[in-house]
Amino acid sequence: MAKQSLSGGPCWLCRRRDDGVGYMLRHNARPVWSCSEHLHLVKKGQAMSQREFDIYEGQALHDAMCMAADRLDRLGTGDLNALSEVQAVEFFRGFLDDFGTSLADKLEKLDPPF
Ligand SMILES: [Zn+2]
Repeated sequence: MAKQSLSGGPCWLCRRRDDGVGYMLRHNARPVWSCSEHLHLVKKGQAMSQREFDIYEGQALHDAMCMAADRLDRLGTGDLNALSEVQAVEFFRGFLDDFGTSLADKLEKLDPPF
């Protein structure tokens, strides 16, 4: 018998943890899943316009890409195919963590991105 999950998936914000916490912007709306750490930020992100959120998300992606480039420099290669499996997991895990951390920071501060 398959294990039944109470969650729809990983955190909408950081895409990392799946804590089974859901948030609905309106009654009867589809739930947005969050980790316990980011529930208050998911509420902020869901309340803003898609255009505004896309700007914060794009900035977080840019931050994560810059940190990924630095990480590759430290690994001594620009070729992802040259990474060992352990290095590749470290690289992509780092990218995902950096993206989530940057987006959470931007939603926490809500500095105008415009
Ligand atoms: Zn999260």
